[in-house]
Amino acid sequence: MIFMIMALLILAVVIVWVFDVHTVLYLKARTQNAGDAAALAAARWQGISLNLIGDLNILQALALSRGDTTAAAQITDVQARLCFVGPLVGLLASQQAAKNNRAYVNPDYMAILMEHVADVSDYADFFPEPYTNAWPEYAGMLANIAEQGVAAGPDNTWYFIPPITDLPRNFYEAVAGLDWCWFYWNDLTTLQSYSGYQDWPDPPTNPPPNTFNCEVFGLGLLPFTTVLPGGAGTVERMNQISSERGISPETISNEVAGITNTWYGYAWTSWSALAPDNNFPILPLQVKPEYDYAGADAVIRVEATADPRMPTVFPGIQPFLIRSAPSATRLTQSAATAGAITWTAAAKPFGYLAADGSPVRPDAYAIVLPAFHNVRLIPVDAASGSNIGAYDIDWHRHNKYHMQIYWESGPAGLEADCWYCQQLQTWEDPAFRQQGIDWLNDTNHTCDQVVGGGGGPGGGTRRGH
Ligand SMILES: [Zn+2]
Repeated sequence: MIFMIMALLILAVVIVWVFDVHTVLYLKARTQNAGDAAALAAARWQGISLNLIGDLNILQALALSRGDTTAAAQITDVQARLCFVGPLVGLLASQQAAKNNRAYVNPDYMAILMEHVADVSDYADFFPEPYTNAWPEYAGMLANIAEQGVAAGPDNTWYFIPPITDLPRNFYEAVAGLDWCWFYWNDLTTLQSYSGYQDWPDPPTNPPPNTFNCEVFGLGLLPFTTVLPGGAGTVERMNQISSERGISPETISNEVAGITNTWYGYAWTSWSALAPDNNFPILPLQVKPEYDYAGADAVIRVEATADPRMPTVFPGIQPFLIRSAPSATRLTQSAATAGAITWTAAAKPFGYLAADGSPVRPDAYAIVLPAFHNVRLIPVDAASGSNIGAYDIDWHRHNKYHMQIYWESGPAGLEADCWYCQQLQTWEDPAFRQQGIDWLNDTNHTCDQVVGGGGGPGGGTRRGH
């Protein structure tokens, strides 16, 4: 009888284990596919939009060649609109791609986007419009996408009015993990001299936003009024591209080089400049010079909980299995929703221009020219704005709603059910901070700078991919 009971117990454990492993692995693969597909779809539309804006620069030069300044001005207006419409089509396409891969509509993501629509309605009070009626149209397009259901969160959304995020995520993680070395390397003075929430420095004033770009999947462009950058060389390149792409049988005359006009150009950086503290996950030497640019890329966040149609045999076992999965570094568990699987993915449009046979960066001519041929997934940490976490629900909620109260009235305003607030509560305890000061005084020498770790305010590597 004892033998029978033992055998039955073992059998029961095996059944539960196999069932849950299957559920988790299936869910994990599905979430990854949905996130990757959504990121690629968004980046593809970024590439298409950039190529269209580049084609329009060439059409504009052709119009100027004919002396048609009215057409040139109209083309500038279309370019301004494309800077918003193009990326938003990308947002729509990424939702479709995620849903095609069986990602569910996420009510929290929809709420964040609808909330943002309300913010955009006030933009007329803060920012000049890049084209007539831009803000109401922009709000309308965002609302339309939100109503259709958001499954893939655009995680690197650059809000024109960003939430207060000047306490980096790494700070909270250092508090939670008693990682005193983080303080040693990043903020030792605060640890040693902090006496209350009034001691935090004022939140930094944000630089004026580039309101010529969509906040979601922005293209990083800027209109500038000048004579044609690069002069006759650029005219020659435009004529070559025009004939290759079959844009027009006409040729642009060299006189265009001397005409002052509004061109759409790049406000891009080099790729490795994204991580000045050497946290860049791709060694600079591994990036070909023609691809060493950063400006337009897409970061997607997809969250999944266990399929509601599948009964959970033994609920407690699931989070445990997720944590111990072999590639757990690529999966993060939301603090609020234990058992949820989160996948972040990033993609970027790639291309180059051929200058006399040798490839150069797409922004080599300063103005936008059609150059993008492909999209690829890239490491999330190598994407611009990967630390924003605009669709990390807990992070978003904390920075948008809790921090303001904390800055104004201290720990009394912290929320008990918010993980980030809990860390601040811990931090506020003088005994906690003293523990760290004592530890560092004792064993200072054990704080070795970890390559790929650390990270300054607002940055740092926290994912394994
Ligand atoms: Zn909070």
